[in-house]
Amino acid sequence: VLKTRALLYHDVIPEGSPSDSSGFGGASASAYKLSHAHFHAHLSEVQKAAPEVASVGKTVHELLEADQVGGPHVLITFDDGGVSAISETAPYLESLGWRGHYFIATDFVGKRGFLSEKQIRELDRRGHAIGSHSCSHPLRMADLTKDELHAEWRQSVAVLAAILDRPVELASVPGGMYTTEVGIAARESGVKILFTSEPEQTVGALGDLTLVGRYSVVRKDPPQYAHQLASGAQMALQKQWMLWNAKKIAKRVAGGSYMWARERYFKRRI
Ligand SMILES: [Zn+2]
Repeated sequence: VLKTRALLYHDVIPEGSPSDSSGFGGASASAYKLSHAHFHAHLSEVQKAAPEVASVGKTVHELLEADQVGGPHVLITFDDGGVSAISETAPYLESLGWRGHYFIATDFVGKRGFLSEKQIRELDRRGHAIGSHSCSHPLRMADLTKDELHAEWRQSVAVLAAILDRPVELASVPGGMYTTEVGIAARESGVKILFTSEPEQTVGALGDLTLVGRYSVVRKDPPQYAHQLASGAQMALQKQWMLWNAKKIAKRVAGGSYMWARERYFKRRI
């Protein structure tokens, strides 16, 4: 069994730049964006955890090809496809000898603040893993009909496959809401490895679809928190589990009003 601690980041914004210069705009999105200096401090802390884990900064493909089971392996992932992948995060990962996973919401390719097709090919050429993050980035993926779910995965996988000129077998769930239906639709669209936002270390499976949990890191999290997550400190892992399950209950109970509550929650946290 493969054991991973995958960290989930979004965009990294240079000091003095507006937060919508990379990725989605709005208050709730900006809560996920780290400044340049803050991101560097985070990864320095993750690097300190390296002696305590099997590997840091490899791609899931590298692990599977090398048949590196066991672990824990610390993976670095980025959602949405903001342009800071090419200007900020990939160069820094490369300076550490690491590679990242970049999940692209394909309707936004080439739009302001998002990666272009050429930049996606460039990341791929430099050894980073590229995956789908749906087409339109629905925040409540689990609420879609079966047909809508299939369309979101199938079309985004096809768009990326056309950009890279080869099959794309990697994806992450937008909004983090994983259900079995979300997984089945991804699998039937050719996805082989699906990253969720379930804060779990043990890699799971749905038939021949591999499921990888992730630990979310947001702007207000201090660099030490990234170190604790990477090294598997119980307190940090439990905090993730509690936050995630509270969020899940809020989503289930509040339904549509959850999104409004989320917006308000993030405004308060900023
Ligand atoms: Zn996303």
